Amino acid sequence: MISKLRYGLHAFVSTKIKNWQHLDEQEASVWIRRWIGKRAYEVFWQRLFALKFFEYKDNLSAAWIWSRIKRVGVSRKSLMQEQMGYLEGGSQTLLDEFGKAISALGGKFNLKTAVRQLSIKNNALDVLRTDVDSRHYDAVFSTIPLPLVADIIPALPDEYKQKYRSVQNMGVVCVILQMKKPVSDNFWLNISDEAIDIPGIIEFSNLRPLGTHVVYVPYYMPQTHAKHDMSNDEFIAEAQSYIKKLNPDLADDDFSHAHVSRYAFAQPICPPGFLKKLPPIETDIKGLYIADTSYYYPEDRSISESVRLGQKMAAMYRG
Ligand SMILES: Cc1cc2nc3c(=O)[nH]c(=O)nc-3n(C[C@H](O)[C@H](O)[C@H](O)COP(=O)(O)OP(=O)(O)OC[C@H]3O[C@@H](n4cnc5c(N)ncnc54)[C@H](O)[C@@H]3O)c2cc1C
Repeated sequence: MISKLRYGLHAFVSTKIKNWQHLDEQEASVWIRRWIGKRAYEVFWQRLFALKFFEYKDNLSAAWIWSRIKRVGVSRKSLMQEQMGYLEGGSQTLLDEFGKAISALGGKFNLKTAVRQLSIKNNALDVLRTDVDSRHYDAVFSTIPLPLVADIIPALPDEYKQKYRSVQNMGVVCVILQMKKPVSDNFWLNISDEAIDIPGIIEFSNLRPLGTHVVYVPYYMPQTHAKHDMSNDEFIAEAQSYIKKLNPDLADDDFSHAHVSRYAFAQPICPPGFLKKLPPIETDIKGLYIADTSYYYPEDRSISESVRLGQKMAAMYRG
């Protein structure tokens, strides 16, 4: 009971904290343990940290984890009921509208076109080389993952390149399952069970009615992890076995479709004092702005944060 009360108090206090600067230099697991004690930490948090951050689990920023606790804590209609939103049609709706607005202003998209190199001359933008052409642009806003930036812009100062390269990211293998029946009534289910090697499942159809049941099972892991080499079929089989453990009423023929996606830059790892380790978004090279999801700090990745940071970067542009 004491552990539960301490856990609840910590979550409540986290929703009331406005100034996060004092948490920036603190380590997340130390901060949480101080509030909720060893027992509650072991039951609730320990496995979540271990299965999402592996070797980085004991060097995370308290400010980053606080912003996640707060986000969940304030997403509530009442004490007992969470409230979250979604876009009709998903992110595609937002992207389609962006696309229309940008095209109407004369913008052009080159999709599936990798940027290979950006050269710099006299501390100014020179030529941007892509798979299709090489051109000069007045401004470049780079939002590709930071560790990839240094190789694409070799003329950047060594100090910047070293900082971009040093941002670590957790990869993800994301298994999406379409089901004939629901797994649970929850949108989000955290799991802390020695027999289940995932930190949780997200039952998307419990947030957004889809006319079918869709669950995603994220396997966050460094790309160096032995499990990363498992085949897609092995991931699907394991995810299905976990789902059946969570809901023993489900049988093999309740799984209709499965899909696996992999992404190396799924989650930037934010150690204490993270923001100070990042170069400024506006670089010393006129017209060059560089950021990725790391700059949402202390907020976590989300489409809302992408939009907020995009607006901030656009406002920095001096023409
Ligand atoms: C499992 C998972 C679940 C999530 N769920 C949610 C959710 O429910 N709600 C939510 O709001 N957010 C969610 N997010 C977070 C959301 O996906 C991110 O915040 C968002 O994708 C960030 O967008 P971005 O464009 O900044 O970066 P990214 O999506 O990382 O895009 C970077 C892009 O750069 C491209 N690129 C790399 N190199 C080059 C190059 N040389 N030339 C051109 N392009 C290049 C990559 O191909 C990639 O498309 C989730 C993330 C994950 C991993």
